[in-house]
Amino acid sequence: MFFFFAGGLGQQVRQVLKSGAGKCIRCGSEADLVDYDKVLKLFFVPVWRWPGKDQVLHCRDCDLFFPPPISLATCRFCDRVVEPEFRFCPFCGSSL
Ligand SMILES: [Zn+2]
Ligand SMILES: [Zn+2]
Repeated sequence: MFFFFAGGLGQQVRQVLKSGAGKCIRCGSEADLVDYDKVLKLFFVPVWRWPGKDQVLHCRDCDLFFPPPISLATCRFCDRVVEPEFRFCPFCGSSL
């Protein structure tokens, strides 16, 4: 976490998967479920970018990234919301 604050490492939305999927834990506004890139910046210039592992929720109002609640599991293949205890996606049959 040290690097997150001191080293210019930030997060940037790559793709919105589900608009209004959750609520911001800080300001209570609508938050989107997103895929994100981690971005390393030097002197405010992005020098390196790589994809984040998990989907996260992103608040449009206060620009906060935070992990989705457990109840919001989505299928990696078809991006539909599924029950977290499911082992297979009921929509496309992929293993989760
Ligand atoms: Zn917010
Ligand atoms: Zn699926």
